[in-house]
Amino acid sequence: MVKIFIDPGHGGSDSGAAGYGILEKNVTLQIGLRIRDILEREYSNVSVRMSRTGDTTVSLNQRSNAANSWGADFLYSVHVNAGGGVGYEDYIYSGLSSSSRTAQMQRTIHSEIIARNNMNDRGMKKADFHMLRETNMDAVLTENGFIDNAGDAAKMKDPAWIEQVARGHVVGLERIYNLTRNGNAPATSTPAAATAPATAPAPSSGRTIYLPASADSWRIYRVNDAPVRANAIGQLRPAKFGGLSYRIVANGNEPYTYIIDTADFGRVKIYGHSSTGAVIR
Ligand SMILES: [Zn+2]
Repeated sequence: MVKIFIDPGHGGSDSGAAGYGILEKNVTLQIGLRIRDILEREYSNVSVRMSRTGDTTVSLNQRSNAANSWGADFLYSVHVNAGGGVGYEDYIYSGLSSSSRTAQMQRTIHSEIIARNNMNDRGMKKADFHMLRETNMDAVLTENGFIDNAGDAAKMKDPAWIEQVARGHVVGLERIYNLTRNGNAPATSTPAAATAPATAPAPSSGRTIYLPASADSWRIYRVNDAPVRANAIGQLRPAKFGGLSYRIVANGNEPYTYIIDTADFGRVKIYGHSSTGAVIR
C-alpha cells in the first residue's frame, strides 16, 4: 500500500487567507477531501490519512508529526495563495536539488494539475516551509490560485473546479506510484466537461433537499461510506439556521441517500427518507 498523507492548510481558528467571501481553510478542505475520496474510491493500493477532515485547529507540528509517525510515503499540503498574484504554483523543500526524486515528482504533479485547473502557470518553486522541511517523506505543497484575485476566487467557488484540481493531484500520484485502478468508474460528481468555464453551473440533478428546522442535527457521511452512525464525519445544523436547503448533486449508492456540497465539509452524503422530515423537491 502506498501511504498518502493529505494536509488541508489552516482550519479552525486559523482561516488562512480570505477574499471575495470565501476562506482559504474551506477551499483547502474541499480539495483535500476530494483527493482522499477519489483515491479511496478508484484505486486499490493506496491508503490515505489527513491532518484534518473538518474545520478544526491543528498546529504545524501536529501535522508534520502525524505524517512522520504514520510513516507516510508522500505528503500533499494543500493551500491557496493571496497577496496580489494570479494562478497556480507548487513548492518542494528548498534544500532539495532539481534532480532529486521529489523534484521529479513535482514535475509530474505540476503538469497534471496545470492540465486541469484552467489557471495561469506560476511555475515550480522551492521554499523553506514547515510542512516541507519537517516531514520525512516526499512532500509537495500546492498553492491553488489567489483567493484575493477575482478570477481565481470565482474558480474556487465552483465545485467542478474543485473536482478537477483534486483529480490533478490524484493523477500525479497515479503516475508516480503506478497506482492501480480498481475498476470503479469516476464518481458521479465528476464534471462532464473539464474545459467548462469557471462560471458554468455545477453539475446538478436539478433537485434540492430541504432539512427542516425541527431537526437539531443531521449526520453527514463521506460520499462512498455507508450512511451508518459510526461513519458520520460531522453534522449539519438545520435548527440553527431555520432549516437548510441543498442542491442535490446526485443520488447516493444507498436508497434515500443524496450527495450534496456543503461549505464546511465539502461534498458529502446525507440520508433523507421522508420519515426523517427531509423534503426532496
Ligand atoms: Zn495557506
